[in-house]
Amino acid sequence: MTNEQGVCWIDGQLLKPAEARISVFDHGLLYGDGIFEGIRFYNGQPFMLAEHLIRLNDSARALAITIPYSDAQLGEAIKQVISTANSRDGYLRLVITRGVGSLGIDPASCQHPSTIIIASPLAMVSAQTRRQGLKLIIAGIRRMAVDVLDARIKSLNYLNNILARMQANTAGADEAVLLNAAGYIAEGSADNIFIVKNDCLYTPPVSEGALAGVTRHIVMQLAAASGITVKEERLAPYDLYTADECFLTGTGAELLPVREIDGRTMQACPGAMFNLLEQAFQQFIKDETISA
Ligand code: PMP
Repeated sequence: MTNEQGVCWIDGQLLKPAEARISVFDHGLLYGDGIFEGIRFYNGQPFMLAEHLIRLNDSARALAITIPYSDAQLGEAIKQVISTANSRDGYLRLVITRGVGSLGIDPASCQHPSTIIIASPLAMVSAQTRRQGLKLIIAGIRRMAVDVLDARIKSLNYLNNILARMQANTAGADEAVLLNAAGYIAEGSADNIFIVKNDCLYTPPVSEGALAGVTRHIVMQLAAASGITVKEERLAPYDLYTADECFLTGTGAELLPVREIDGRTMQACPGAMFNLLEQAFQQFIKDETISA
């Protein structure tokens, strides 16, 4: 599926991507005033839709945006988009913006939030990188502090993540890790981070500036179900450099093993715990999206 083969849904209308239009006065464009979810579909079915809609609704409430559609209506629209996409597996972007308003910043000028659903292929990393593991850098750009913009809001403001990712590109790395204002690990530019040390699984708590990732949550549950000790703990760069294993999680990323961080090589890549969780995750996808 190429971008032009996909489909879009805007405010109730199914459109070809080339025909899809958003106003230049939409505050999503002018100010990044909006929220989004990235949702996978496997076997023609949306994956973890309920969890994504919960997070979308929470993001909307945090920003006082009223989503013009119920969860059931959004679910129907998503199913419509998936059935029109010419692939059983893919990626959806659900975006709600503050809507069309005046050029000024005041959200009070926006009367109707815009709702956009896009189906598109997604190639986060090449199959080779996925096999070999990723090279990470710790970026100089910090994750916004929770008292500046709470990381739990999945907003259209990704600029500091983008700047961090640009640092990774410049350094010839695959992904950047962002620290919070206090210098502790928050997350990747578009994914959550886990390390393994002495057979325990660690990930930073959401309060350190991590998005409450849907994949993060699944991985923690699968690990606990396999008898693995899972700890949400503050992590320093030292903990990453000295980890036995490290991996990233995300809707687009799924699970990605990490090979190297700032020139330090992980003990194992992919490690035994990664392999176990990756297998459990793939089985979980199958179980959740089995044909009705
Ligand atoms: N952190 C950030 C900044 C992200 O953009 C994403 C991708 N949505 C994640 C973490 C992973 O979250 P999820 O597993 O819900 O996709």
